[in-house]
Amino acid sequence: MRFDIITVLPGLLESPFAHSILQRAQKKGLTEIHVHNLREYATNKQKSVDDYPDGGGSGMVMQIAPFAACIEQLQSERKYDEIIYMTPDGETLNQEMANGLSSSNKNIIILCGHYKGIDQRIRDIYVTKEISIGDYVLSGGELPAAILVDAIVRVIPGVLSDETSALSDSFQDGLLDAPIYTRPVDWNGHKVPDILLSGHEAKITAWRHEQQLQRTKERRPDLLND
Ligand code: SAH
Repeated sequence: MRFDIITVLPGLLESPFAHSILQRAQKKGLTEIHVHNLREYATNKQKSVDDYPDGGGSGMVMQIAPFAACIEQLQSERKYDEIIYMTPDGETLNQEMANGLSSSNKNIIILCGHYKGIDQRIRDIYVTKEISIGDYVLSGGELPAAILVDAIVRVIPGVLSDETSALSDSFQDGLLDAPIYTRPVDWNGHKVPDILLSGHEAKITAWRHEQQLQRTKERRPDLLND
């Protein structure tokens, strides 16, 4: 998989991809992540990429020309399966979407907005999918883009060393994850449940499933109704 992320603040995206699972996925050749500085595609002398909103009002709007130039440059180099705009009015990201986007070897462009957002015509002409990370507004699309890439990349086969660990995470089977413990067995009188120390695999599996159901019923009954 290849991601091309277009942003005015490339520095914001350096760290999220330079550690842990995302870094390993790139080193293993399972994904490529390229960050492009939108300002390099600005055509005016000041290298500005935003302007006042037509019709008035507060906040600046990101202009179409730099995005168009960057997207078209990328499209001339390879075919893209999706051009995604991170936006609070998009479809809310969930595990099913992340699984779907990671399921085949895709090339994806991600657009990060800033200020008031991006000129509607960029969305109309280029964007194939609009994704929100939740019902709140952030200052820019960089953190949402990093979240989307992380959610997609960690479910690419071979990225996590223990394959089954992604499959047993919350949401994969429509349930929240069960409580987890590690040594010491007794922490000031707070003990690990006996069943987990019993060595009885079938009983442990049944206990975990029961815990998953209970937790989901308490915290996210909506998941059980779907
Ligand atoms: N005026 C817009 C918000 C702009 S916030 C509105 O009311 O919908 C500036 C940028 O941050 C957006 O263009 C988008 O790229 C990003 N952003 C903010 N909140 C986001 C969210 N919940 N999900 C995805 N992207 C978000």
